[in-house]
Amino acid sequence: MRDHFEVGRYDAAGRLGELTVPRAGVTVETPALMPVVNPHVQTVAPSTLASEFGAEILITNSYILHGSDELREPALDEGLHDLLDFSGAIMTDSGSFQLAEYGDIDVTTEEILDFQHRIGSDIGTPIDIPTPPDVDRARAERELATTQERIETAAEADVGEMLVTAPMQGSTDPDLREAAAEHAHGTGLDVFPIGAVVPLMNEYRYADLADVVAACKRGLGEDAPVHLFGAGHPMMFAMAVALGCDLFDSAAYALYARDGRYLTVRGTEHLDDMDYFPCHCPVCVEHTPADLRGASDEDSEELLARHNLHVTYGEIRTIKQAIRDGDLVELVDSRARAHPAMLDGYRTLLDHAAQLERTDRIAKDTFFHCSTESARRPEVVRHHQRLDRFALSGDVLLTEGERDEGYDESWRVDPPFAPYPRELGDAYPFTAEVPERLDRQAYESAADGIARLAELNPDVDLTLAHFEWPASALDRVPDAVTVRRLGEE
Ligand SMILES: [Zn+2]
Repeated sequence: MRDHFEVGRYDAAGRLGELTVPRAGVTVETPALMPVVNPHVQTVAPSTLASEFGAEILITNSYILHGSDELREPALDEGLHDLLDFSGAIMTDSGSFQLAEYGDIDVTTEEILDFQHRIGSDIGTPIDIPTPPDVDRARAERELATTQERIETAAEADVGEMLVTAPMQGSTDPDLREAAAEHAHGTGLDVFPIGAVVPLMNEYRYADLADVVAACKRGLGEDAPVHLFGAGHPMMFAMAVALGCDLFDSAAYALYARDGRYLTVRGTEHLDDMDYFPCHCPVCVEHTPADLRGASDEDSEELLARHNLHVTYGEIRTIKQAIRDGDLVELVDSRARAHPAMLDGYRTLLDHAAQLERTDRIAKDTFFHCSTESARRPEVVRHHQRLDRFALSGDVLLTEGERDEGYDESWRVDPPFAPYPRELGDAYPFTAEVPERLDRQAYESAADGIARLAELNPDVDLTLAHFEWPASALDRVPDAVTVRRLGEE
């Protein structure tokens, strides 16, 4: 039984959860950020991560410690928590990244897991094969088979209370990703990283990323905490959480700072190009870009890294509050405006709206229709699917106007939603706020709902009464439905 991950509230597939890490004796609230700590170069000390940023968990690389003449023995003697001076949960990576970079590493899964256990890691990782995007299916299958053997080995290893991850590979092939997830979940291991997605993120392929995450989620149970491995840029966190990711690791805060790069939820700025800091964190309130440019390299790097952490943790809090309020998809919608590739990612996320609907909350605060994409949200899909729950007979009016006693029944139709019985008018999502100047897609979505209602009720006479719907929507209303224009009669 998997009982170390408990999900509280959902919004789409995003969730507030609690990951209990027994070896550390801590419970981590998710979605959570794990800052990457390089054992050799600590831009921000782990104790500062805890005291200044509230870090409950971090990640470091056991392969680097294993291969280091200076740090290997101290790690074994003192243990990781003393070595890093951090009392929260510590996850360790295994060297898979180095394997992908250099093609070869000199340890086995058994050895590195045993080493992770001996240095006191709380969450250990086997050596999976990070298969890049777009490889041919034969290679993706072959490497996945090796990854699967290794996670089976990991599942059998005697590592006490240490949690162990089961990475999911399969390149950009959704079938393989889903199969990988099902297999990983079946091993009984504890945390589920989606591996080898860094190349997708580096190339802004957020649409492909959304497909990969959705495929992995289909193969996992809801009791599985999901780690989007290598995702550290806050601009895509909301989208990843809405798809069902729980854990992120950020090396970006430090790596970007080293190059003078400043993270925001809308993208990345370069310190050299900045006259103003748009952020309210202590670094940005107390300094100007010119101050940082005038500081020593070391000070400037540390201050930038601290800003990058503030903005990254801030986005995690923003996302948690959005889940609590039930407006996570509206947050994703607004973040998607930062870059056309993010918009592609959001549109692809909405291709999976039926999948996200399964865990979406039934009731939330008011639905805000703020973009053409709103017409494809899980709430719209849900009502469309549930039209088969109503029994209709006789003459039925579907109207944007008043009730008409000349009909047996009179339903409301409020784009983007499919028609609904009037008694649901006070219920979510039909209390939606929509703009006066509604987009064509919203009318088309309502028209598709009418078409479905007609298909489900072939013996019912349907009449649509509308205020000036666009032709593209009226074209989608079946011929069997009588159409009346309101305001002209
Ligand atoms: Zn700042």
